[in-house]
Amino acid sequence: MTKTTNNKGDKMITKVYPNIYKQEIPLPRNPLRILNSYIILGESRNLIIDTGFNMKECKEAFMDNIEELNIDLTKTDLLITHLHSDHSGLAAEVSKKGAGLYAGKIDGPMMLAMTKDEYWKRFEGYTRIFDLEKDNLLFHDHPGYKYCPKEALEFNLLKEGDLLEVGDYAFEVIDIPGHTPGHIGLYERNHRLFFGGDHILDRITPNISFWGFEYNILETYLNSLKKVYEYDIDYLFTAHRNILRDHKRRIDELLQHHGKRLDEIRSIIKNKRMSVRDTAANMHWELRYDSWDDFPNPQKWFASSEAMSHLEYLFLAGEAERSEEEGILYYKL
Ligand SMILES: [Zn+2]
Repeated sequence: MTKTTNNKGDKMITKVYPNIYKQEIPLPRNPLRILNSYIILGESRNLIIDTGFNMKECKEAFMDNIEELNIDLTKTDLLITHLHSDHSGLAAEVSKKGAGLYAGKIDGPMMLAMTKDEYWKRFEGYTRIFDLEKDNLLFHDHPGYKYCPKEALEFNLLKEGDLLEVGDYAFEVIDIPGHTPGHIGLYERNHRLFFGGDHILDRITPNISFWGFEYNILETYLNSLKKVYEYDIDYLFTAHRNILRDHKRRIDELLQHHGKRLDEIRSIIKNKRMSVRDTAANMHWELRYDSWDDFPNPQKWFASSEAMSHLEYLFLAGEAERSEEEGILYYKL
């Protein structure tokens, strides 16, 4: 592997496969620390996968790397694997410099909606439903709101089976919903490469949050894990932390993790009806805070939303009852 350093001496670009580079975009003040964005050099057009936040530090790193690799953005397409702002943040910026934009047919339109305040207003409703008014949370505290693109985006929308050819590679679009409603991945069958965004990460458990009552999002996610399990993959290019060589091992661990999570929640709501926030506050989180009150606001959002996706899974499976009082939801086994 060849590494290039920036002027601060950090390793930013790594060649991970012929004509495929990983660029590390710093995510300041975020526990994810770094986004792995991938650059695939082609003969006529290049492809870049994901961007980092709409934030000065991310933009500088991204543009430095583009310069370092001598990339002409007018001969480049940018694909956003899913709507989270650490992946989509610079989409408007990069497209203004002449790049084509690609996204999945579900997350693409959602990203457009997220550029407007109206979309985020529904999070105000969630603070009540989740019982987070107790913690005085506002939708302005949501990191998705802070660092998402704020300008209109024109995406070419992709669906399962669409092909993107870059140099010798033919990437097939694969639907892997769950982490977001329309997360997509790219599979290169001949070389057994998979670009999986946040679907499967090493050492981190991808956040499975609540996206509205129309989804059984945890079930959807578990099915997408089982789907990718069947693929023949040599390199799973992840969007955070290590590139994976043994995706089946990691998928087994993730399936087990959610099984344990469901058990934990079953025991929390066994004898007493609990709100989403109180369920989350009673769950074990791998964070260095002594109590729920010490959680920073964004982590309260993530934790409650993660609890909600599991509570709804139990409700939809007929295992838990759901009731409502003064706009707050309660679940009991
Ligand atoms: Zn994500």
